[in-house]
Amino acid sequence: MKIGVLCVQGAFLEHEKALHKLGVECEEIRQEKDFKNVDGIILPGGESTVQGKLLCELNLFNNIKTEICHGLPTLATCAGLILLAEKIENDNATYLKTLPVTVRRNAYGRQLGSFEANGDVDEIKDFPMVFIRAPYITKLNEGVEILSSINDHIVGVKYQNQIGLSFHPELTNDMRIHEKFLSMV
Ligand code: GLN
Repeated sequence: MKIGVLCVQGAFLEHEKALHKLGVECEEIRQEKDFKNVDGIILPGGESTVQGKLLCELNLFNNIKTEICHGLPTLATCAGLILLAEKIENDNATYLKTLPVTVRRNAYGRQLGSFEANGDVDEIKDFPMVFIRAPYITKLNEGVEILSSINDHIVGVKYQNQIGLSFHPELTNDMRIHEKFLSMV
């Protein structure tokens, strides 16, 4: 099994470390030729505007979108979730649009840099969640399953082959979410 990690910007190293801890091979996706023969993809946190722009410039946008639509297992965290979202409530931009949800960027306010909370993510109980200028999900379309809510805000969803999270499981030592993702591969 080989998992591609989008390495154009943001917190990709931490995802790679998590995969290594679990004994899984990863492929750093930096350009078009790297995106071959992967069994799943992780879209990390960072800055969605920058990542979205780089995806186009590096000719990765259409390839990644097509593979996700064809069922490539996908784990997207924070900015990654924004890239997948069909709609961004407080921004005119959209990116891959493979996940039928609406998100709000920087939903907890720009000033509130980061916070932590513990919560359930589907069958995973009491997961330590790290939020950094995080989005949350304000609208779900048909077929989208809620995995996690914190203070009445949806922070984790699953739709077919895609998991989208507002928080950063790669910044904790708890590997259960990466394991859950790998079980979909
Ligand atoms: N605020 C960032 C954005 O809008 C996301 C932050 C993150 O990925 N930690 O892209």
